[in-house]
Amino acid sequence: MKEVTLNNGIVMPAVGYGTWQNRNGEGAVESVKEALKAGYTHIDTAACYHNEESVGEAIRQAIDEGIITRENLFLTTKVWNPDRGYESTLKAFNASITRLGVDYVDLYLIHWPANAKQFDNWEQINLDTWKAMTELYKAGKIRAIGVSNFKPHHLKALMETEVKPAVNQIEYHPGNLQEDIVTFCQDNDILVEAWSPLGTGRVLGDERLQAIAARYNKSVAQLCVRFALQNGVVPLPKSVTPSRIVENLNVFDFEIAEDDMADIRNMAPFGGSGLDADEVDF
Ligand code: NDP
Repeated sequence: MKEVTLNNGIVMPAVGYGTWQNRNGEGAVESVKEALKAGYTHIDTAACYHNEESVGEAIRQAIDEGIITRENLFLTTKVWNPDRGYESTLKAFNASITRLGVDYVDLYLIHWPANAKQFDNWEQINLDTWKAMTELYKAGKIRAIGVSNFKPHHLKALMETEVKPAVNQIEYHPGNLQEDIVTFCQDNDILVEAWSPLGTGRVLGDERLQAIAARYNKSVAQLCVRFALQNGVVPLPKSVTPSRIVENLNVFDFEIAEDDMADIRNMAPFGGSGLDADEVDF
């Protein structure tokens, strides 16, 4: 359960460390380094998080100090919305690896699909972005390519191209499971990653989750991380707090029983971000 294999054979550590809202600076370097020290070997960043320089700096320091090797690290970044399209994606990718200070990334994602609300030719824009990513993949600059926030109707066109998406990173946590997307992806061998696996903290105070977590002597955060794993979804918990960074990875010594899994699965919607890929205008 500690690793998953993507549809192109690449192995990904099954818990990643999220870095959204942790902008460039000493704090970002320190917390990413703390995560690497705690044993995370999978880091999730994005051009729009404005922290690629600090993530890169933390990785360099950790390599210099013998904490990790580049080969043992799985690094993800994403092309931001204004950079969608063929030429601009090539440029954005080069800017990202320059900021990160790396020669390649393990996973590159389209952060959000171009949607019909914003563009008449939304499908072509996504295909053009994908074409650039496919070329970078074939050139060995990216080990796996994928998408984020795509619904099945956004995914369909990409799945008919030469290289199928390996990953779809979507919002996923108790109270917001997006089961239609998860089922479509799992049926089509696309690995689902959970963004906001703790609902950006919004689900942690839920009394029902607290009662279930207490039965395993675990925190609600650990319950959420483990819940994703047991559903075959790769969670990306974020914390800048050293004790929580360690806590969120300490999820491999218990198993949520099937009746508790079902209780969580059956919870009515709550704690969601409200972001809908067909409705967003950014
Ligand atoms: P999470 O769902 O991981 O929740 C993070 C929040 O929970 C922070 O406020 C953190 O506080 C707090 N927290 C973390 N661990 C604990 C704990 N053990 N106990 C109590 N509180 C805790 O947040 P994100 O929304 O950041 O999502 C995770 C990652 O997913 C992002 O960082 C990013 O990498 C990715 N993402 C991708 C998106 C996309 O569109 N592709 C969109 C959103 C996120 P503190 O840091 O202060 O400890």
